[in-house]
Amino acid sequence: LPSRYKGTKESVWTEYIQMALDYKPLNLGQGFPDYPPPKYIMDALAKASNQSDYMLHQYTRGFGHPRLVAAIAKLYSKLIGREINAKTEVITTIGAYEALFSTIMGHTEVGDEVIIIEPFYDCYEPMVRYAGGIPKFVPLRLKEVSGRLPTSADWVLDKDELESAFNEKTKSIIINTPNNPLGKVFTEAELTHIANLCKKWNALCISDEVYEWIVYKPNKHIRIATLPGMWERTITIGSAGKTFNVTGWKMGWAYCPANLMKNLQMIHQNTVYTGVTPIQEATAIGFEIEVERLDSDECFFNQLPKELESKRDYMANMLVNAGMKPTIPEGGYFMLADWTPLESKIDLSGEKDMQKDYKFTKWMTKSIGLQGIPPSAFYGESHKNLGENFVRYCFIKKDENLQKANDILLKWK
Ligand code: PMP
Ligand code: GLN
Repeated sequence: LPSRYKGTKESVWTEYIQMALDYKPLNLGQGFPDYPPPKYIMDALAKASNQSDYMLHQYTRGFGHPRLVAAIAKLYSKLIGREINAKTEVITTIGAYEALFSTIMGHTEVGDEVIIIEPFYDCYEPMVRYAGGIPKFVPLRLKEVSGRLPTSADWVLDKDELESAFNEKTKSIIINTPNNPLGKVFTEAELTHIANLCKKWNALCISDEVYEWIVYKPNKHIRIATLPGMWERTITIGSAGKTFNVTGWKMGWAYCPANLMKNLQMIHQNTVYTGVTPIQEATAIGFEIEVERLDSDECFFNQLPKELESKRDYMANMLVNAGMKPTIPEGGYFMLADWTPLESKIDLSGEKDMQKDYKFTKWMTKSIGLQGIPPSAFYGESHKNLGENFVRYCFIKKDENLQKANDILLKWK
């Protein structure tokens, strides 16, 4: 590898998806639904590829298919409470990954510092390094709780620790709400604190909101771009994969003021140039349907968290019964659980990894046929110990498969 990519290792996804293929465990690892997406979105894709408009099989506008950027601008204008310009303030990308990449590459100067809150979606760190930036990690820390299970709200930033991460070299902070892997939904007070520091240090806020619709009551998703003085400095990222249960579409977007968007456009035009036309057409159809019924129970965005809440509760119970200590997520479709109460019952000496959550998850895949993800992958090198006592499980799975996971755990126990 060229020296600027020094230190790049196989990611947790590369390793664990291969392991799932090799050992065929019940897969609660990678985040994707194992059941069909809503019918109207599959119909939308069929329509986008079958209809007589054969131009939908050709290149579309580079910064975003016109019908889709119009739909995205309409939706977020409503949600943000300001007019978003479809041409200059929205870009569509190959998944949220490319939106993150174009944002980070387009807004990081060599030597800039980028603050990343741990645990974080793992690609943030290599993207910042590839751009020549210096990641500065600030962890969420689990408070002591007694007499009940912890929730993701019990994982909090230390105010002083966060404040001391900012300085004149800070270019940006990356936040992720609802957070993967924790499920934490940042509160207005927490976001305001972050916003005030961004304003004080003239930093950008890169807000990964791919799970924006998956929030469990009474929690509320707050878009940091709506806080006072934040529209000007925020780039918000979304994903159709999470919005419509179609992770294989690799359809993402970002919205922000035109002057900030310029930098994303420059990276995008010379790396991928343009996105997949029929996928964008289908996503546009999906948004056009939903934007008309946002306040109704019929809206898929309102149905999704309801459907997932019972799966979340089932999983929490299952993990408690297996002897683990889950953190109940306020959003998203992942759950962290402390597995160390089981440590004395298992022999991890066959696994050679540095981190014990890697040992535990590999042992579990091979020995009892259940796959989870090791959360230390979501921490910077010096904080990996903060993730080691945990395992991440995904619960956007058929009830039948969650029951199978339950059976596997009970049988083993
Ligand atoms: N951000 C977060 C927090 C994620 O969990 C994911 C996972 N898919 C992504 C970004 C990337 O999304 P996409 O699949 O749309 O590239
Ligand atoms: N975002 C998903 C997860 O966290 C998928 C990750 C991936 O395949 N890169 O599981």
